[in-house]
Amino acid sequence: MAEITESKNFIHAFIEEDIAEGGRFAGKTVHTRFPPEPNGYLHIGHCKALIIDFGTAEKFGGLCNLRMDDTNPTKEDVEFVHAIQEDIHWLGFDWDDRFFYGSDYFEKTYELAEALIQKGLAYVCELTPDQFKEYRGDLTTPATSPYRNRPIEESLDLFRRMRAGEFEDNRYTLRAKIDLASGNFNMRDPVIYRIRHMHHHRQGDKWCIYPMYDFAHPIQDALEGITHSLCSLEFENHRPLYNWVVENVGLAHHPRQIEFARLGIDHTVLSKRKLRALVENNYVSGWDDPRMPTLCGLRRRGYTPASIRNFCDRVGVAKSPNTIEFGFLEHCLREDLNEHAKRVMAVLDPVKLTITNYPEGQSEEFEVENNPNDPEAGTRTVSFSRNLWIEADDFMAEPIPKYKRLFPNGPECRLKGAYLITCTGCVTDENGKVTEVLATYDPESKGGNPADGRKVKGATIHWVDADNCCEAEVRQYSNLFDDPDPDAAGKDFLACLNPNSLEILKNCKVETSLLDAKPGEAFQFIRLGYFTPDSKDSAADHLVFNRSVSLKDSFKPAK
Ligand code: ATP
Ligand code: MG
Repeated sequence: MAEITESKNFIHAFIEEDIAEGGRFAGKTVHTRFPPEPNGYLHIGHCKALIIDFGTAEKFGGLCNLRMDDTNPTKEDVEFVHAIQEDIHWLGFDWDDRFFYGSDYFEKTYELAEALIQKGLAYVCELTPDQFKEYRGDLTTPATSPYRNRPIEESLDLFRRMRAGEFEDNRYTLRAKIDLASGNFNMRDPVIYRIRHMHHHRQGDKWCIYPMYDFAHPIQDALEGITHSLCSLEFENHRPLYNWVVENVGLAHHPRQIEFARLGIDHTVLSKRKLRALVENNYVSGWDDPRMPTLCGLRRRGYTPASIRNFCDRVGVAKSPNTIEFGFLEHCLREDLNEHAKRVMAVLDPVKLTITNYPEGQSEEFEVENNPNDPEAGTRTVSFSRNLWIEADDFMAEPIPKYKRLFPNGPECRLKGAYLITCTGCVTDENGKVTEVLATYDPESKGGNPADGRKVKGATIHWVDADNCCEAEVRQYSNLFDDPDPDAAGKDFLACLNPNSLEILKNCKVETSLLDAKPGEAFQFIRLGYFTPDSKDSAADHLVFNRSVSLKDSFKPAK
């Protein structure tokens, strides 16, 4: 299979320039940050951003801070803070003692805002939200504000009274005095503080004015000594404001903002708001439903940190928006599991197979290898008897042309790792349904190899010893959305849901070695796919496996 070649990482190229002799950060340690808003669980899009932030620091021997962006007082929750930390650790990154909250800088941010007013670079405005729209101008007309020339002392007094809680929401705003005629609307005297009488999850009721992200974020970066503030492309037009804030509030350190394209994946939505709607309306079982593109969902599904990091690396860092096939994520998982997953036998849609010439009451054990790709994975034993389970579709009473599996008087087939068998007939119930397949075995073919070296014409079939196996439930997943682009603007994403994204099989038979399987452990069910125990629902008396990914790779990389 052709490789997707890693695209040249332009962020790394910029950083190399910056730290080289004569560069703006010559001789400095590269320092990045990942600033998630703790209002939901991380999804694969955030994962791309955090791999860029932590991975870039790692590459340059630098540091990466984890900062909860809790500037906005709504919707934040400690549950999300812990989940975000857990997900980042799971991916293999760490922030040591550099864990911060944006809200910890509120006092400092307020001081800097007062200083701006004193310099004549900010003023208190009393346009209502509606008037604001009216006065903002258009591409050819500059914005206007009747309050722009309010005396410094008056703005300062009003700003202090805003903080003291004298005014209701939206009565006043604090605006940076930049350029009402700028072609970049973000520079037309943007609001930097607004009144919100709201409880903050960490600050309580201490504040009733909150800084806007565009004001708070560059200050937080500068205070933490961030050299490179890496963010997604929607902030590109905000970069002049980012730079203006750092230059004018008088902080010595000036980070460089660099933007990259957001990751999009087909057949899924990558927006916390939409993911939350799926959870709250019970379209999925929770944020960690194995169909969700959240890190906790992917983990429960059986995704490995290596497969996700590899996926993000190979998708590369681009400057233009890109949508990647979900199939490529699956391809990366399959590659990892093919190397590392233990091979076992499981029958998902069982029918009985009786070996009529094998003595009743007798049993034996075979030693089989755990992973043909990894001799160090060792071997295990599987038991064998006269009564076995095989997949119902490995038998046909009346075979279709070229069918190489079991049918009466058909070709000799190999029972994986055990014996060669020949089908002799079947038993059906009153409806004609096959209830038992009958076969004879060649006692001289132990291990699955004929003593005389004859060629085996039929297929190799997996099986489970019916006298010594476990019952299991197996959950098979497909795309959560039928529509390839449910995230498109203006589309009703809920109408794009695939009603058949979850298939539950209750009557599966698995070999007894799976009794000890732990969540996070990956198994290849031979001929079927890769599976992992469900971390929430699997128990010794009720095994539940999630299909992580099927065996068949439908992903075809573009030439
Ligand atoms: P959402 O729309 O899902 O709520 P967000 O950008 O509001 O996303 P944040 O918690 O603010 O969520 O995101 C933290 C970081 O992750 C930001 O720097 C953001 O740019 C980045 N990010 C979010 N989604 C993606 C994506 N799909 N691809 C790349 N980076 C992303
Ligand atoms: Mg955000």
